[in-house]
Amino acid sequence: MARREITSADYSEHTQLHCDGCGWNGAAGEASERRWPDFVAVRCPTCDRTIATVVPEPPTPKSAASAS
Ligand SMILES: [Zn+2]
Repeated sequence: MARREITSADYSEHTQLHCDGCGWNGAAGEASERRWPDFVAVRCPTCDRTIATVVPEPPTPKSAASAS
């Protein structure tokens, strides 16, 4: 199965992940940052397989002027 894509808004320590490679099941939580430069590959802690990709939220044009 293809890796999951998770938006940064959805990604939290409660995000449940599953590794098709070794059968590992668990929650995310390794990354506490809420901002990613492009995307972050979430790796299985057991076999280091990429099991999900965290993609940034689409830009919201409503308050672009106040963006840091
Ligand atoms: Zn694994």
